[in-house]
Parts: sequence; C-alpha cells; structure tokens
Amino acid sequence: MQLDNQFVSSLPGDLDESIKPRQVYEAVYSRVAPKKAASPVVVDYVQDLADELQLPIADWEEKQAAAYLSGSELLPGSVPHALCYGGHQFGNWAGQLGDGRAINLGEVATQNGDAAMLQLKGAGLTPYSRSADGLAVLRSSVREYVCSEAMQHLGVPTTRALSLVLTGDQVLRDMFYDGNQAFEPGAVVSRVAPSFLRFGNFQLFAARGDLATLRTLLDFTIETYFPELGEPNEEAYVAWFKEVAALTCEVVVGWMRVGFTHGVLNTDNMSIHGLTIDYGPYGWVDDYDLQWTPNTTDAAHKRYRFGAQGAVSQWNLLQLGNAIAPLLAYVSPLEEVLNAYPQKYTEQYQSMMLQKLGLTQTDAKQDAALIAALEQALQLNEVDMTIFFRSLATLQTSATALQCRSHIKEALYEPKEFDDDHGLIQWLMAYSKRVAATVDETQLLVRREAMNEVNPLYVFRNYLGQQVIEAAEKGDYEPLRELQKMLRNPYKQQPGKEKYAAKRPEWARNKPGCSMLSCSS
Ligand code: AMP
Ligand code: MG
Repeated sequence: MQLDNQFVSSLPGDLDESIKPRQVYEAVYSRVAPKKAASPVVVDYVQDLADELQLPIADWEEKQAAAYLSGSELLPGSVPHALCYGGHQFGNWAGQLGDGRAINLGEVATQNGDAAMLQLKGAGLTPYSRSADGLAVLRSSVREYVCSEAMQHLGVPTTRALSLVLTGDQVLRDMFYDGNQAFEPGAVVSRVAPSFLRFGNFQLFAARGDLATLRTLLDFTIETYFPELGEPNEEAYVAWFKEVAALTCEVVVGWMRVGFTHGVLNTDNMSIHGLTIDYGPYGWVDDYDLQWTPNTTDAAHKRYRFGAQGAVSQWNLLQLGNAIAPLLAYVSPLEEVLNAYPQKYTEQYQSMMLQKLGLTQTDAKQDAALIAALEQALQLNEVDMTIFFRSLATLQTSATALQCRSHIKEALYEPKEFDDDHGLIQWLMAYSKRVAATVDETQLLVRREAMNEVNPLYVFRNYLGQQVIEAAEKGDYEPLRELQKMLRNPYKQQPGKEKYAAKRPEWARNKPGCSMLSCSS
C-alpha cells in the first residue's frame, strides 16, 4: 500500500514550510507535518470503506493502526499538506481561511480504480490555523464520524469518515462561548473524498487577482475530477460550473428529503463535488420547521436555517461564478446557469417531495400548492418530520378525519391531541383521496415500498448523537458502535431498534447538543 500524490505534484505549493500563521500566496497548499499524538487509540473504523480503499487496517497491529490514523506516523507515500482557501462566512468575505486543522495525506487507490484523498481532521497546526490549535475534540469528532456515514447510507452525497481515533491529548475548549474553558479529550477523524476542494479555493485566487493560479487549479480540477467535460477551455469552464450547480442542487435536495440542516453553509464549506462536507453545528429536524437552525452563532439571522438551504446554495454558487468569471471572455453563460438554478432547484425539490408523498406528478401548479399547504400545516403544528413522512405509506386511502388523526398521533409532539390542527387533517384527507383516485389498488404495495426507500425510518437524531457522545466521554464506545451500525440501514425496519425510530423525548427539547450547538469543536 502506497499513497499517491497527484494533487501536490501537479499543483503549485507553498515554498515556506513553517507553520507560523500567515498569508500564503500563489500556492494551492502548504506542506505540513501532522502532530504526534500522546497515546493514540483507534475507537472505531468503517470496515467496508477500508476495504474499498484497499487499506488493510484489520491486518495492522493496534498500535500501528492508531499511529497511522492519528497522523503520528505517516502512511507510506504520504505528502501531508493543508489547502489554502478563502470564503464568505455568513455572507461576508473573510479572506484567507484554509485548512486550519485538516491535513491531506495523499490519494489512495480504490477498488474500482478511482483515486480518493485521505485526510486527517484534528491532527495539528498548519499555516492556516490562525489563533486556534489545529485540534478537534471527541464530541465534535463523534458527530462527524457518525453523521457522515449515516448520510452515506441515507443516499445523500457526502465525504466519508474512515476512522475515529482518540489522541490521548487534552484539548482546551469553551464549549458554550461563555468564558468557561475546560479540557476535553482530543480526537482525529480520518475522512475521504475525491478531493477536499471547496468553492473557497477558487474564490481566494480570484479575490487576489491571481488568475494564473486560479486557471491552473481549475484546469487541474477539470482534467482530474471532471474529465468527461473535455479539454479545459472556456467552454469546459462553463460546463464545469453547470455541473457543480447540478451537484449542489442534488445534495441540498437530499438534505431537504432527510431533514438535515448543515448549519454553516459558508462558501468554504461547499464542496465542488456536491458532497456534504464539514459536519459542525449541523442538526436533524425533529419537529418539521423550515425556520429552524441548530447553530447558536446563526440564531439571530438564521441565514442557514433548514428551509433556506436552497436559496443559500444559489448565493454560494453566485460567489463561485464570480470567482471563475475573470477566466471567461463572456460571463453570460455563467449567468444563464445561475438564472436557471431556482427553477431547477424547485423542480427537483418538488419531485423529491412527491416521491416522499408517493404521488406521481400531475399539474405542476397543483402539486406545488399541495406541497406548500403541507409545509404550512406541518409548521403550524408540532409534527415529527421523519415519523410523519414514514407513516404516509400506510395511511388508508380515502381516510376519514378520525383515521387520519389516529394515524399521525405518534408523530405529534405534546400536546398529542390538538384542538386546532391548522388544516393538517383536512390536508391528509384530501391527500388520501388523491391516492385513492390516482393509485391502482394493485400498485399500493409497490408504492409503499418505493416510499419507504425515500422516507427513512431512522435518522441521526440530535439527542441520539448527544447520548453516544456522553457515553464516549465516559469511555463507553458501545452505544456509538451500535448506533453507527443501525444507521447503515436507515430505510429497513430493524427488530429491537424501535427506540431509535421514536421521536425526540421531552427532556431533550432544549438540552444543549440536542437542540442547539455552538461552532466550538
Ligand atoms: P469551520 O467553521 O469548521 O468550517 O472552520 C472555519 C475555519 O476555521 C477553517 O479555516 C478551519 O480550518 C478553521 N478552524 C476551525 N477550528 C479550528 C481549530 N481548532 N484549529 C485551527 N483552525 C480551525
Ligand atoms: Mg470548514
């Protein structure tokens, strides 16, 4: 096993090899060395991903595995490096950011002949660490480790998580940003993606007027990761932008389908491969609310709230378009892609919602009205998103008001009986009538199965995450492993796992970690 280094050998790097915080110019990356961990221990790793990456982790001695996966010892062929990128944070240009605690090691050859970049998160200082420590704590690493694999098995594009390692180092954090610092166990997650390039990688060179490096990076990106777009030229640049827009649309619609709120959709957290990346203060929607944000830093403006993710992704694409525009003689083709985006997003969102409802498209306007009415009724009540949608597959056709009420009872948060349902029961009755009118009786079973493939039974509920973190912090990793295993099959009923399909318990309603999270990680 030997890592490859196509990325670093093809692109300009930083000549200064020190880690002192600084501005780095005309370079896509800086070479760095991961920190040696005090006493690393592998908590868990994903066997099928290791197989896919042809990494024989099971054959390594425990100590060796912990050394490799913490960065204390380099895998053969590694050329560790941190990427230089910028980004818009909460709508404002933040200048250079870069990988402050993520270190790419090099590319592994996958079983199907692709190359995948292996990265360690939390492995120490880089020139982009600014005033921070380059480290990550156990709680945020557990969240990234479990959630990326949950996302993968839900069928939403994501970076993968390969391993979770405790470093044995203690890391100082002010978890609630309230002046109370405390030591927490340090951890490293190894993660995998075709590349970890973000919109912000392109933005930074454009912002500095460094068009030569911008072009070099874009040409490399197209040749390496989007070869189907042909020779890099102006036409290919536009095609690439269109492709990134399509991939972005797909991932966001995926989040809307499963009830995921990323929480920090800054342009430095937008993957050019359309992958969910950088699991920070994200959250899963319990009671359906398009206005909800899990991120305490975003509580005032809710820029990154659940229902705004489509619009925000468009804003982010505009920034990417602006970044590559200087390489084009005419920007109108980029504008066309951007102008088409809202329509494309709406179409895909609606088609996804119809799938969740188990309906075939009839009249676009009528379908849109049906979906909007449901969104409104769900928000005016307190209804668990996952349980509600899952239950639709077994709702009787032409159901009465009474049948509808009892059918969705389990999805309701307190109070379980509502006086004014804001039209929810009416909606359900009309819906079940439409199902009766449009779905052939013989097709009901097929329809139910199809719905169960898009409406998960189990998601990584915020409080479940918090529970496995609390156990892990006490040294008990079994709950984490059990949850991780269960989330590999989110659409199939698993005997004995009913508790994971239940709605959020009342004690978790306002508990930190279960409802709101800070960026501290
Ligand atoms: P994030 O909000 O996690 O996407 O991070 C935003 C920026 O802050 C990125 O440039 C990160 O690399 C950097 N950053 C976050 N946490 C740390 C840390 N503990 N040490 C160094 N840099 C960090
Ligand atoms: Mg980030």
